[in-house]
Amino acid sequence: MQKSFKDAKPTLYIVSTPIGNLKDITYRAIEILNFVDFILAEDTRTSGVLLNHYHIKKPMLSYHEFNKDDQQSRILNLLAEGKNLALISDAGTPGISDPGYEIIKDVIQANYHVVAIPGPSAILAALVTSGLIIQPFTYIGFLSRKKSQAKEMINSYQNRRETLVIYESPNRIQSTLELLHGCLGNRRISIARELTKTFETIIRTTLEEACQMEHNPKGEYVIIVEGNHQKETFEDESIEDHYKRYVDMGYQEKDAIKAVAKDRELPKNDVYQIIKNKH
Ligand code: SAM
Repeated sequence: MQKSFKDAKPTLYIVSTPIGNLKDITYRAIEILNFVDFILAEDTRTSGVLLNHYHIKKPMLSYHEFNKDDQQSRILNLLAEGKNLALISDAGTPGISDPGYEIIKDVIQANYHVVAIPGPSAILAALVTSGLIIQPFTYIGFLSRKKSQAKEMINSYQNRRETLVIYESPNRIQSTLELLHGCLGNRRISIARELTKTFETIIRTTLEEACQMEHNPKGEYVIIVEGNHQKETFEDESIEDHYKRYVDMGYQEKDAIKAVAKDRELPKNDVYQIIKNKH
């Protein structure tokens, strides 16, 4: 028999809420928000607008970046008393580049139920409207505010084939596009602004062209960047070093040989013979 959510007490529900358009909420999210004893909200004023809109009258507890350590024991105590809780953030899915991860981890560690009520997140909306290859993708989130660290981070993705998803604030969009262009060269990108809102804009262009455009210094942005689809030549790396790189990453010997053979489009046995002769 399938358990209803009401059987699983006490539980922390991770409830996704709209990223702009208030209608983007699931029936189940509303049901859970009406059911729980307390709602943990990142900003009680922001979440108050959503809860008022749906006539949800539940006590809210603030849980944000600056009080999360103080609130931890309070939240665990509420669960110990048998209370059900919902975690929401200002927008989208709690834990995705907003507070939530820590308390989710603590609640799991304390052996209480954690249940996701899936819904909006800017990642997927930006990705599926980009027109770029969707799988595989890597969610980077916000880059470091320190330019040298941001640069280092982007450079580490330079040779990766997967599509990259980056969150950015409006006042840094221009400089981030320039940094991406400098590190990754010219690639196709999609810039999603104000998704699901009245002034939603999606610009599908290249990094070079995007750097020459003027971007609205207001609103919320997601940048989707095409992965590196240039064929690697491995000119500067011997087959043995290439193999060792995979072994250092934790690959079993035979899997490392398979990976090297695939990367270089060589027969597995040729790679095997070269590695065997070196050892
Ligand atoms: N938890 C959220 C989620 O699931 O997408 C993300 C929260 S993070 C603090 C806020 C960032 O998400 C913004 O700076 C922006 O990069 C992105 N974002 C949120 N809503 C958006 C929207 N409507 N349009 C474009 N980007 C959005």
